[in-house]
Amino acid sequence: MNQKYYIETYGCQMNVYDSELVASLLQKSGYVETDQIHDADAIFLNTCSIREKAEETVQNRLSNFHHLKRKNPKVIIGVLGCMAQNLKDDLLESKPFVDVILGPDSYRKLPEFIHNRKTQMDHLADTRLSKFEVYEDMFPTRKEGVNAWISIMRGCDKFCTFCIVPFTRGRERSRTIESIVHETEQAVREGFIEITLLGQNVNSFRNPDGGDFPDLLEAVAAVPGVQRIRYTSPHPCDIDDKLLNVMLNHDNICNHIHLPLQAGSDRILKRMNRTYTQKEFLNLVDKIRMILPDCSITTDIIVGFPGETEDEFKETLKVVWSVRFDSAFMFKYSPRPGTKAVEFNDHVPEEEKQQRLERLIALQKSMTLIAIQKQIGKSMKVIVEKESKKSRDQWSGRTDGNTWVIFNKSGEKIKDIVDIKITDARGVSLFGERIQMEVTV
Ligand code: SF4
Repeated sequence: MNQKYYIETYGCQMNVYDSELVASLLQKSGYVETDQIHDADAIFLNTCSIREKAEETVQNRLSNFHHLKRKNPKVIIGVLGCMAQNLKDDLLESKPFVDVILGPDSYRKLPEFIHNRKTQMDHLADTRLSKFEVYEDMFPTRKEGVNAWISIMRGCDKFCTFCIVPFTRGRERSRTIESIVHETEQAVREGFIEITLLGQNVNSFRNPDGGDFPDLLEAVAAVPGVQRIRYTSPHPCDIDDKLLNVMLNHDNICNHIHLPLQAGSDRILKRMNRTYTQKEFLNLVDKIRMILPDCSITTDIIVGFPGETEDEFKETLKVVWSVRFDSAFMFKYSPRPGTKAVEFNDHVPEEEKQQRLERLIALQKSMTLIAIQKQIGKSMKVIVEKESKKSRDQWSGRTDGNTWVIFNKSGEKIKDIVDIKITDARGVSLFGERIQMEVTV
């Protein structure tokens, strides 16, 4: 009988993609997936180190696995991903029941490690970072759905002072355009109609044989059957006219840019090593809106970075007010051991960070509402993605600008692309009525 594996994934979409790669490796080795942890012969946690809270969640989850191991000493327990990379020694010491530890560049070793662990007593670990590993020849095993994530590059060379990614995922390296197009074609054959290109710093992509990120976008846009293309996350400094014009010229590239601001004050941006000023960021927003007038812009913001004064925090509020982001991921600064920012000696007290976060969230909520209320009365193409959580009689789907729309069912199926007239906007969602069916896949 086939051995069974179970994977839990934490953190960013890159981890979701990596779990799909790991699933494909395990299936090639004869394993089948189970969603019942107690039935599994091998259990993996694909982990995240981006914030302290993410690490705590995984540590707590792992502590429960102690009982699973006691009940079934033969079960293999593995820790994959960024925490494996970052906390190998700590994990080995505090969780001796962990059998296998593999960093993000070592997944190819998984079948061999599982095999070896069954015949030897010691746990096995490999967390070496590679300058070359992009898993070029490995395609992931995806679950059914609308969107296929495709990793196009790995690692990051930007070294923002708050970020652990350059240490857990190593230096930037890109796949070839040819293999990404090939993976896109395969995803379309498997029934996916939306592609999201992924990278820690996605627009730093450089084709090893020549060509940049806009060239890649054009190549993916030309693949028959790709209805929508998204990408995440770019760095503002790597967005140029060429990229914006490629977006303008291809209807299937979504009118949405996730543009991480992180902070509004020039001094804090410099301390973060973000390599742009507030003015440069605002000029970039103006340029995006000039070339792509309907482009939705979303962002990431950190409050309470070490040394951030009240006036400097107000600079962030000022930028949020003036840009009117469609939505934002907002966080309190979380110290990551090993990063430069941890060494600053003027950390902002926790209550102050919390208070700033609440003020920022309140402002952004009102900005989001203004942005979505502007859509009332417009008609928009929406991909039917899933049943609405609010009612079994309604669908949820996203617009090109990445806003969720809820509308009554009237004979559609998942993956249909429908025209919806927007009639209302509440919270972060739009509500609408079906106009007519455009495409049936
Ligand atoms: S660009 Fe993004 S991934 Fe790279 S160091 Fe900065 S925040 Fe981290």
